[in-house]
Amino acid sequence: MRDEHDEIVLQLADPPHCARCGEPGPVSARFSHSWKNASGEEVPGIREAILCPVCDRDEPAADGLLAFFTVHETLEASQLETFHSLAAAWVAVARARHVNQQQLADEYERSRNGEL
Ligand SMILES: [Zn+2]
Repeated sequence: MRDEHDEIVLQLADPPHCARCGEPGPVSARFSHSWKNASGEEVPGIREAILCPVCDRDEPAADGLLAFFTVHETLEASQLETFHSLAAAWVAVARARHVNQQQLADEYERSRNGEL
């Protein structure tokens, strides 16, 4: 799955469990995420988000995608378009949520240690 800017890879088969509560989710997504380091250079990175039926409940985009999985146990070709638009909405929210101060602080620390 690709939008005009970057690539989003969805994993439907045996996705990782939720990092927050350990519940298995129906899907995970990996997407590019770049940030600027202390010298202002773009540093490309990859993030992973897991759709969690527990933690992501009440978030409208996640609810929409979770509802899709509740109704459709398998992904049929005729449903791909619906699935893609729901997944894109969820990834957009997940992506925004992943940028938080703690994470930026961690990345700064790791870049100082030469890990990035
Ligand atoms: Zn969870």
